Amino acid sequence: MASISLNNLTKTFADGFTAVDNLNLDIKDGEFVVFVGPSGCGKTTTLRMIAGLESVSSGSITIGDREVNKVAPKDRDIAMVFQNYALYPHLSVEDNMGFALRMSKMPKDERTERVLEAAKMLGLEDILNKKPGQLSGGQRQRVALGRAVVRKPAVFLFDEPLSNLDPDRRASTRAEIRRIQRELGTTTVYVTHDHEEAMALGDQIVLLDEGVLQQAGPPGELFDQPANKFVGTFLGAPKMNILPAMIDRRGDRVIAQVDCGDSQLEILLDDSRVPASADHGDQVSIGIRPHCIVINEGGTESHASFQGRVSDLERLGFAVDLHIQVGPHTLLARVNGDCDLAVGDEATFSFDPNMAHVFVD
Ligand code: ADP
Ligand code: MG
Repeated sequence: MASISLNNLTKTFADGFTAVDNLNLDIKDGEFVVFVGPSGCGKTTTLRMIAGLESVSSGSITIGDREVNKVAPKDRDIAMVFQNYALYPHLSVEDNMGFALRMSKMPKDERTERVLEAAKMLGLEDILNKKPGQLSGGQRQRVALGRAVVRKPAVFLFDEPLSNLDPDRRASTRAEIRRIQRELGTTTVYVTHDHEEAMALGDQIVLLDEGVLQQAGPPGELFDQPANKFVGTFLGAPKMNILPAMIDRRGDRVIAQVDCGDSQLEILLDDSRVPASADHGDQVSIGIRPHCIVINEGGTESHASFQGRVSDLERLGFAVDLHIQVGPHTLLARVNGDCDLAVGDEATFSFDPNMAHVFVD
């Protein structure tokens, strides 16, 4: 078991490109941390530095109470699972799982016991004698997982381990990884570009963009209190709507004015939701999640309401996604499945200003 800390961690490659820029992060013992962000944001590079497969340009990595910058990968007490899990094709499942233990000269009895224990945990008992070529993709990925589990490392590192699986398998293997991590309590760093996977798995989510940390915290915190527009729009599906607005401070009231062509949308905001740096007259972005927009039936006075025309809609059964044209803006609203609006209909919509986010650009 081990905590991990990254201190001003930076990676600049030989060509001068900085892939990870001054990253600071504390990972608690037993925590499941997910690094997420668009392709190329530095997730794999960070993981490889923790694993010792990539050197650190500046800053430091601590695992437990030991700085590991100069420690060889094999001495870091970690086990990694990659997207491309290379199993030995000529070895049985049992021998694949026990391979690292054999290399470390663990006695055969103990090895067999460890492999059996992991096989039970992963539901692989019945296929221990099969060769990788005889297994499905999901089974192979479970064997790769088993290979990491048998080693009982202090830290698991996962790099997009589910990307090669079909969606059904991905969901069930994801649940399995989470269950095993809970059972074992092993500190885990997991990399994915998939925001839903990140939200579902992580105790802590670390969102990166272009090598720079955007926000780290529990999933609910990033979802409810996104630190900036990037975090707001990256997490959550459908995506958060973004409207350009101007800040109008009138005494202790703050109003965000949205220019909608023929009309103005005025959003009366609680002072606590507006960053202090947003001065009177400043341009900001207002973020509204699609599920926060409702069709106005009589309406609530405190709500911000606007007229819009349905330009498109998608029926999902449990919900309907409405594309609403408001002057030059298109907003997406996810409303109840029984909504009977049709394309071309005009309607009044509203949202609770306390659900709106204000981002200083
Ligand atoms: P992610 O895993 O988030 O998709 P990576 O960590 O693999 O991203 O890569 C981050 C950035 O660093 C990318 O722009 C990538 O092209 C660049 N990069 C990765 N490896 C090297 C390298 N050896 N030399 C130069 N640039 C690299
Ligand atoms: Mg990657």
